[in-house]
Amino acid sequence: MSKEQAERLAKLDPPCHLCTGICCKQMAVEINRSEADNLIGLLLVLEKNPIKYIFSDGDMFKLAADPCPFLEDDKCVIYDHRPKACEAFNCIRALPTTEIMKKNADLRKLLGKYLKDSNIF
Ligand code: SF4
Ligand code: SF4
Repeated sequence: MSKEQAERLAKLDPPCHLCTGICCKQMAVEINRSEADNLIGLLLVLEKNPIKYIFSDGDMFKLAADPCPFLEDDKCVIYDHRPKACEAFNCIRALPTTEIMKKNADLRKLLGKYLKDSNIF
């Protein structure tokens, strides 16, 4: 990959509008204590059992996403209140390293088409 291609790639937003929330179905999300508290409250509002979805992991917590309990009809129902890690996640930037890329043919197909249409390659 040329330097120019790498720079263009780094600026590209992921095609979430074309996706079915693949990352929300396969990746646990790191959250801090305050996010964990908020999410526990939101899960209770949705009548879902927080014990099934929020785990402590050392000083941090994790929201299980297999799939995420906040994903409904392939959309995040707490989008404006989603954890910082969800906001920051960009599957294109994670492309060379993330396990979901290796495991998920649908995501490889989606990104392959999107990157081709974006004239990156
Ligand atoms: S897998 Fe990528 S395109 Fe799909 S929702 Fe997640 S960040 Fe967006
Ligand atoms: S909180 Fe929302 S954005 Fe984050 S994994 Fe769950 S459904 Fe996806």
